[in-house]
Amino acid sequence: MSAGIVIIGAGQAGGWAAKTLRADGYNGKLTVVSDEPYDFYERPPLSKSVLLDEQAPLSRLFSEEEVAALDIDWYRPLRAEAIDAHQQTVTLNNGRQLHFEQLLLATGGQPRLPDAHWASHPHVMTLRSWDDAIRLRHNLLHCKKLAIVGGGWIGLEIAASARKLGIEVTVFERQPALCMRSVGSEVSQALLELHQQQGVTVHCDCGELTLEDRQGTAWITSGKSVAHSFDRVVVGIGVELNLALAHSAGLRVEHGIVVDGQGRTSHPAIFAAGDVARHPKLGLCLQSWAYAQNQAISTAHAMLDATAAPYDEAAWLWSDQYDANIQILGIPNGGVHSVVRRTPQSSLFFTLNAEQQLVQMVAFNDARAIKLGKRWLASGRILDPQQLADVEFSLMALK
Ligand code: FAD
Ligand code: NAP
Repeated sequence: MSAGIVIIGAGQAGGWAAKTLRADGYNGKLTVVSDEPYDFYERPPLSKSVLLDEQAPLSRLFSEEEVAALDIDWYRPLRAEAIDAHQQTVTLNNGRQLHFEQLLLATGGQPRLPDAHWASHPHVMTLRSWDDAIRLRHNLLHCKKLAIVGGGWIGLEIAASARKLGIEVTVFERQPALCMRSVGSEVSQALLELHQQQGVTVHCDCGELTLEDRQGTAWITSGKSVAHSFDRVVVGIGVELNLALAHSAGLRVEHGIVVDGQGRTSHPAIFAAGDVARHPKLGLCLQSWAYAQNQAISTAHAMLDATAAPYDEAAWLWSDQYDANIQILGIPNGGVHSVVRRTPQSSLFFTLNAEQQLVQMVAFNDARAIKLGKRWLASGRILDPQQLADVEFSLMALK
């Protein structure tokens, strides 16, 4: 019997695809395979409020009633192990085979670790799932000194949460600057200052780290320093995308699963959404909440209607650290001019290309400016760096 439309993965992308398929009137069988036991949930709170609040509920995407109304055949907690694209079947780890009319891969990624030795150390943790967050929160209760390996978004958000809990925090980052691959050097510097002001010790350019277990304490030695001891270690050094299924199906995979603007892979009945789906225009995997949600919604429309509008949104993500709401619009590629605009309340960082058009804008505590930036990006407006930097000049004049 056919399982109808099958979605693999019950995260941000899988959830929004399911919701959209039903909202668009799909009333056939809707099957979701998830290796987690929970209803659809989102991950941003896991590094923020969930670490601080013992009572924090599962960060559900939809209420229990809304999920029930989607009338889903759940296969959970079960893993999809292989796809036969020709026969249009998915094989699960309990041996069950599901025949699909259409398939959506929304399998996200999993945290990297430096090597297997780190994975087996009892005091080393990573953060991706609800279960990881609960484990980390419990461990932070017993932690005075925390090492964070990786000065990317996840590392910095955990650092901010740990400092709020009064924990001594040291960040080890192998690049010369924080979040260096996603933002320019001025933003990296602002992030460094933000964390240093809150008492975080940051070792950039840390070199290869070695981890030792000495009587239940984790010791980390970096290429540049003597060994430091820590009660707990969190590793946030990026993710390995879950691409094995796409490979088993023979789909075109280049860094992520190659999809068109409608989320369609190289097989006409197989679609991909969220972290695993390479951005159709940018040619990279964005790995952000907004992309996972909105690209999945576009893809679900297209699964039911081949004439649906393609996904076409600028890259956007946000991060909350201490009292700073940080929003990042666009990617820095192609940037040649940097402009900084600071007021006592907010900081804006603009990156312009050779034609003086915006390629990236980062706002610390200025959501309104990001709305303007979205318009400038969409229209390719030519911007004057002097006006952007001049705090006496109102950016609203450039509406
Ligand atoms: P996921 O949410 O990872 O969901 C994939 C699901 O598929 C998982 O449940 C996985 O277990 C399951 N799965 C994988 N393989 C299989 C299989 N073979 N069979 C069955 N199930 C499978 N982005 C922002 O823009 N702002 C933020 O503030 C922010 N904060 C974040 C904080 C944390 C702690 C994390 C981890 C991420 C954060 N992100 C943030 C990124 C954002 O959450 C992700 O981009 C988003 O979750 C991706 O959604 P997804 O559905 O593609 O993948
Ligand atoms: P990330 O943003 O890629 O940052 C990881 C950082 O760790 C990189 O600078 C990386 O350098 C560095 N690193 C790699 N190996 C290292 C090592 N051995 N020692 C020290 N540093 C090392 O990834 P992440 O912070 O782990 O986040 C994971 C995913 O969750 C990403 O997809 C991210 O977008 C998403 N996320 C997003 C948010 C948000 O948007 N607010 C919040 C949390 C998580 P290299 O670049 O050289 O590898």
